[in-house]
Amino acid sequence: MTSTAALATAVAVLRDVPRSVSACRSASDASVLEWMRLAGEARKLADAHLALAAGEMARRSDPSLGGAGLARREGARTPEELVKTQTGSTGRDAVVALRVGRLAQAEGSVLGDAVTAGVVSVPAAEAIRAGLEGADAPPELVDQATELLCAEAATLDPDRLHKRAREVRDELDEAGIASREARLRGRRSLRRLELRDGMKRLIWDYDPLTAGVVDEIYDRATSPRRGGPRFVDSEQKARAEALEKDDRTTEQIASDAFTELLRQAGSLPTDVLLGKGAPAVRVLVPAADLAAGTGHGVIEGSGEVLSIGTVQALACNQGTQTALLDSLGDVLDLGREQRLYSRHQRVALAIRDGGCLWSGCERPPSWCEAHHIDHYARDHGRTDLARGVLLCKHHHLKLHNENWQIRRQDGRYWLHPPPDRPGPPVLLVTKSRAIREHVARRSDRSATPGRSASGATHSPGALSAGTEHPPSMTGAPVSG
Ligand SMILES: [Zn+2]
Ligand SMILES: [Zn+2]
Repeated sequence: MTSTAALATAVAVLRDVPRSVSACRSASDASVLEWMRLAGEARKLADAHLALAAGEMARRSDPSLGGAGLARREGARTPEELVKTQTGSTGRDAVVALRVGRLAQAEGSVLGDAVTAGVVSVPAAEAIRAGLEGADAPPELVDQATELLCAEAATLDPDRLHKRAREVRDELDEAGIASREARLRGRRSLRRLELRDGMKRLIWDYDPLTAGVVDEIYDRATSPRRGGPRFVDSEQKARAEALEKDDRTTEQIASDAFTELLRQAGSLPTDVLLGKGAPAVRVLVPAADLAAGTGHGVIEGSGEVLSIGTVQALACNQGTQTALLDSLGDVLDLGREQRLYSRHQRVALAIRDGGCLWSGCERPPSWCEAHHIDHYARDHGRTDLARGVLLCKHHHLKLHNENWQIRRQDGRYWLHPPPDRPGPPVLLVTKSRAIREHVARRSDRSATPGRSASGATHSPGALSAGTEHPPSMTGAPVSG
């Protein structure tokens, strides 16, 4: 008997299986559960047939065949369209059936074989395929990982299986973490649409690192609406109760919170550094990896991975806290938080650098992070101002991920290109006009120390900016 004839017989049998609400109602709990399990099994097998047939149809509809392809001869523009009209499935299900069907067609595909054998369902196969996609690893290792995931598919739903496959992919291809992260980061976008009725709409796609900041603010504004109350003291409890009584929707609360945040931020002068209460992304990384610049970090909460370069950039700016773990992952000891640069020092950096020090960058200090010019491992904890420079987030990430280096020579900072892109170092000049004028004045009149940029003469040690060594500058206004 051909597959088609056998399938037709099976469908006829399936059609005759009684389906009625009254049969359902009178069944025992155990029967209902078994009923559901068997229906799932039937669907899994039916999906496998659909994928196989769709894959074959796609093979006969190859674009190189043009109008002679099967789909076109049947009057469909694409194989997806033919699957949709032939089976009544949604566009997304048609795409999945074709993708998995093509896998089943491919010679020696572990995943395709598992689907054909009815071991793995089509949605599970798609979750594994998508999760492992882009892993740059030897084919035999990818096959091994696929077999492992096929075995795990029995106990994981497709969403969790997809997450698990991405974890496996990151283990297989750790070197690719940086480029995958950069690709995700490159897709960040905020679009504004005008709706016909006068409303406007923002569509915001944001990457895992941005999510660390945005989600923190979103959660602060809307919890305990989402996920239930998590208060620990009476003040928080009162806030939680007020928020639950609030007659606004969670979406309205979020909208109001972001509006207020933007209003406040928009009214700040750009030379003001953001307060230390700003949300920080927490990333877990083995201390040895951070020191050696190997491995990767995992964002606490979301579980997304970050390249070691990005983790180093975060450690540079936010500092680190060491947790000593036992072999079961229990925290034995939590070290003190180490912030590399104090708020006070950041103000000094802001005055000196006047913004992102990267050549050609115009970002003001409020957009910048403190970058430690020494390698993290070599100079962990030394926080003298000479070893720090301001960089905007974009250039800070670029520097660490592409292995640029900033070195200090004769009191000036030089940007050295990465080893794989040799070129002459570039002198980095402060973005502060006041400092540039001050330096020019000093070299003109190097014999007159003790003169501040405002032109007032001060005696050493009694300057309004409070610095110890003349000559000095009066600091930019800084929020408290
Ligand atoms: Zn840095
Ligand atoms: Zn910059």
